[in-house]
Amino acid sequence: MASLSKIAPAFDWPHYFEIQGAPGVAKLNVAQPEFMKAVQTEVSTESVEALRGYLRLHFLTAAAPYLAHPLEQADFDFYSTTLRGVPAMPPRWKTCTRGVDRDLGEALGQEFVKRTFSADTKAKTQLMTEQIETAMKQEIENLDWMSPATKQEALRKLHVIRNKIGYPDQWRDYTTLEIKPDDYVGNVVRSYRFEDARQWHKLGKPVDLNEWGMTPPTVNAYFNPQMNDINFPAGVLQPPLYDTKLDDAPNYGNTGATIGHELTHAFDDEGRQFDDKGNLRDWWTPADAKGFEDRINCIRDQYAQYIVVDDIHINSKLTSGEDVADLGGTLLAYIAWKKQTAAQQLASVDGFTSDQRFFVGMAQWACENERPEVLRVRAITDPHSPGYARINGVVSNMPEFQKAFSCKAGQPMVHAPTCRVW
Ligand SMILES: [Zn+2]
Repeated sequence: MASLSKIAPAFDWPHYFEIQGAPGVAKLNVAQPEFMKAVQTEVSTESVEALRGYLRLHFLTAAAPYLAHPLEQADFDFYSTTLRGVPAMPPRWKTCTRGVDRDLGEALGQEFVKRTFSADTKAKTQLMTEQIETAMKQEIENLDWMSPATKQEALRKLHVIRNKIGYPDQWRDYTTLEIKPDDYVGNVVRSYRFEDARQWHKLGKPVDLNEWGMTPPTVNAYFNPQMNDINFPAGVLQPPLYDTKLDDAPNYGNTGATIGHELTHAFDDEGRQFDDKGNLRDWWTPADAKGFEDRINCIRDQYAQYIVVDDIHINSKLTSGEDVADLGGTLLAYIAWKKQTAAQQLASVDGFTSDQRFFVGMAQWACENERPEVLRVRAITDPHSPGYARINGVVSNMPEFQKAFSCKAGQPMVHAPTCRVW
């Protein structure tokens, strides 16, 4: 606290923490010291009137989507239409559903899980996750660029990763959050305050390992390095991603590759910074880092060739961490799927072999249709490549794909050299 007050003395930090309900904070992590230096410059040089205007602008911008229609529309026109090319507001039910998910996600989630996520789906996707972890174990043991000591660290970390599938074991309690049927913006403000208070309440207490950073209906997944857990909400385990009516080939190709993707993040240039307990400790050696860097450069060169929109190429220095996870994740899913189906006679379906169906399933997670405006925003802000590159870039590095579809050297779907990290 003393150092923070030294970097940015124009801001009364002890008072700030006190009014947040967290008096007496002595130790904190200033994650962005340069930002705090800039705050100091602005606060000490700008007039009070200018600072008030700035705060007023941000307050109104944050509130606009929940105010009267003209304000909501003006906010949408700029942030969605001008910046992202969205021509019209979504229907009201979508706005409402999103709002409830954002502010009461684990209340909505209970109903969502009841209706859409059976015990059988949970058991199957849990098993798939364990199989992919077993594949990861083999891959780590066989890596040629990771030193033996680092492999031991990696395996220890892998061994204690927690798999959180579907929904939290204990649901969040919203009883202190007041929702009024005739006060939309008030509900949103109270929800923000509720969430703020929930976050501040964590101070000085042990980490809640049960906590989820996504709500159960969310169509997304993540690995959290500070918790050392992978999280797959029920929302991402639904058709057309995971389909209980389909067999293993498309499901392992699709959801399995996503599970594998998240898992590799525990061991890559992000995951190296956090140990098996989630503490900030780099467990790679400089030689491991160099081995990883040498291999990731292959991917950087490959993806730099892909176009995002018009003449804008992928900034592969930004996306390579995710591109490597895509490739590694698909390899892991393929290994796990082969093991899962080893004893089965896999017949062709709809004219596709089972290997082809694995890759068709994998490709279908990235079905998308994005406007040029949003592609331009993404090209400079999103660490993920556009969907088509996340598929073509991966499979063109996989001999398994080339075999399945009889691709030959020199053809567009065969990348030379074959890039591989995991
Ligand atoms: Zn990722």
